[in-house]
Amino acid sequence: MNVLLVVMDSVSAKNMSLYGYERETTPWLETWATNDGVTVYEEARAPGRWSLPSHASMFTGLHASEHRLFDRTQRLTIPTLWDELEFPCAVFTKNSYISGLVDTGLSAGFDTIVTKELPFDGLDPYSYSGNTEKYLKDALRSENKIGSLLNGAFAKFNLLGWTTDDYYVERFNEWSNTHEEWGACINLMGAHVSHNADRSCDWVDEESIDLQTRVDASSRWELIDDGDIHIFDELENLYDASIRKVDKRVKEIVESVDLSETLVVVTSDHGHAFGEKSEFRDVRLGGHGVGMSETLLHVPLIVSYPDGIETSDDPTALSSLTYFYDVVSESLQKGTPAFNGVTRAGDGGMNKSNPELWESLGSPPELSGDVFVRYHHDGEDVIKSILWDGEVFEVNVRTNEVSEGNSEDMNIPKPKTVTSDSEELSDEAREQLKDLGYI
Ligand SMILES: [Zn+2]
Repeated sequence: MNVLLVVMDSVSAKNMSLYGYERETTPWLETWATNDGVTVYEEARAPGRWSLPSHASMFTGLHASEHRLFDRTQRLTIPTLWDELEFPCAVFTKNSYISGLVDTGLSAGFDTIVTKELPFDGLDPYSYSGNTEKYLKDALRSENKIGSLLNGAFAKFNLLGWTTDDYYVERFNEWSNTHEEWGACINLMGAHVSHNADRSCDWVDEESIDLQTRVDASSRWELIDDGDIHIFDELENLYDASIRKVDKRVKEIVESVDLSETLVVVTSDHGHAFGEKSEFRDVRLGGHGVGMSETLLHVPLIVSYPDGIETSDDPTALSSLTYFYDVVSESLQKGTPAFNGVTRAGDGGMNKSNPELWESLGSPPELSGDVFVRYHHDGEDVIKSILWDGEVFEVNVRTNEVSEGNSEDMNIPKPKTVTSDSEELSDEAREQLKDLGYI
């Protein structure tokens, strides 16, 4: 059996036509979803509001409150799912938290890491997680000595452009075709910064395209006031058009694999906010740097189980991406995989996820501190409890009604010792995080 995890980074369920959005952003996924054997989970939730905690949960099967990998200066010390799989595993992404460029430990289980399109034939410096000495040694010994050294120099001085998702799709196709049994994670960043919108979409106008060239990624991370709403509307046009392109890439990926022997999970690690009102406070949210609102946590989850594997999941019930780890293990053991279960999310404050931005905002205490979420059903309704600053609130995600909650009901799992301090960020990592708006 092969394992394929496709993460459409930063794609909110609510911006996908598959989940009822009025714009046709995901036409291919809608068609694929009608096939026998494809399950569309309606109430899937991300384990965290940004890439690091969310992927950590998917790769370890631990809730965010258990791993607490909220901070890029920390590193996972336990093996991930990809370490444990007994066949070759690869990751294809520009996302620095998963590619190993930021040393989070999330890439440690991959035998192959494809993270940037390189200008020359030769070794890939990005697969060395900042170990320059080893790279130089290997480059000098390699077949394409000059190409390898030049690739290293281009990476060192950050001379490589933005690698678009089609490159990763192509490399995945080459790689998977040359392996008998495999595991792969492809994280598509097309919607993360909306650099690659499908301009043929009728909702994309000149103003949006002009904005795309002017607005810096990092400006989309803050809480915003009503005056910024216009910009966020334009940015959302681009975002929607980028999702449309991501939908095409997912089609190319899924159509290239043998579905009878591949577990395919298409999801997103978190959503993205474009001026939605916070559920608890009188502010609007932008980006995915703060908050635990539904626009950030309600994500798509579309699964195709291989022949002979059946799930007993109720696709309308709450499901958590944290169970990806268990779903893979169960499927390999020919058991009954399930995404349904206790659905939780958690995160550190902005002081951990983006300390530079937090400090530049004057270190606001209300944007720091860990926050934990637990969902449950109440009849047809989905209720979200949030523990934040010692207080518990409940929100009915359908009606947006807020009430007081009880922290004992949340029963937060205790942290396990799974991280250690990581090395300082390399220059390349710093540059790439800047590109992505994380610094
Ligand atoms: Zn992400």
